[in-house]
Amino acid sequence: MSRPDLIILGPQGSGKGTQAKLLCDKLGYVYVGSGDTLRDMARKDSELGRKVRSYLEAGRLVPDEIVMPVLEEKLRSVPASQPVLIDGFARRLPQYEFLKKIWPALGRNDYQVLFIELSEDESVKRLASRSGIEKREDDQPEAIKKRLQWFRQETLPMIEAMKRDGIKLIRIDGAPSIEEVHGEILQKLELVET
Ligand code: AMP
Repeated sequence: MSRPDLIILGPQGSGKGTQAKLLCDKLGYVYVGSGDTLRDMARKDSELGRKVRSYLEAGRLVPDEIVMPVLEEKLRSVPASQPVLIDGFARRLPQYEFLKKIWPALGRNDYQVLFIELSEDESVKRLASRSGIEKREDDQPEAIKKRLQWFRQETLPMIEAMKRDGIKLIRIDGAPSIEEVHGEILQKLELVET
């Protein structure tokens, strides 16, 4: 069965990265993640690396002119015959406009959006308790608040615009366990018998 390309979105702490990777392992999607890509860039000792790092540490969205070309290059590197799962892009309206512009040239069909929902209270609790190897440089309380704020102010309106454009939006409750959320995703993608 050919799989639809997917974009996975959700507030910080919703587990979207974990779910994205599970889906890739199970269903053979090629993972294209903006957060991972930016974290790799931030490790480089260059002007660009330092700039990206400063945004990540502050919990701010990295400027579009940095994120968009990087994502475009990643997407272009995947043959159109392979389904992609895009984690964390687009995150705001100009990025969505950009995606609409480049998508036809990638030779891909329509995509669907998986939206992992989680209340702000639950997001804060989860992020604050990340520890050890899970802990990321952007998990400081001030950065967490900033990330939730731009999710509300920038990502939610973009999701509304996607809906208006007729993109299939699949809402998933992110509160249950990792396994349960994974199961719900598979069901809603109609990839398992119910
Ligand atoms: P994530 O791992 O998807 O939660 O992303 C981690 C961080 O990378 C975010 O908090 C942002 O600072 C940055 N980031 C990821 N994706 C984007 C994007 N599409 N646009 C701007 N910044 C992004």
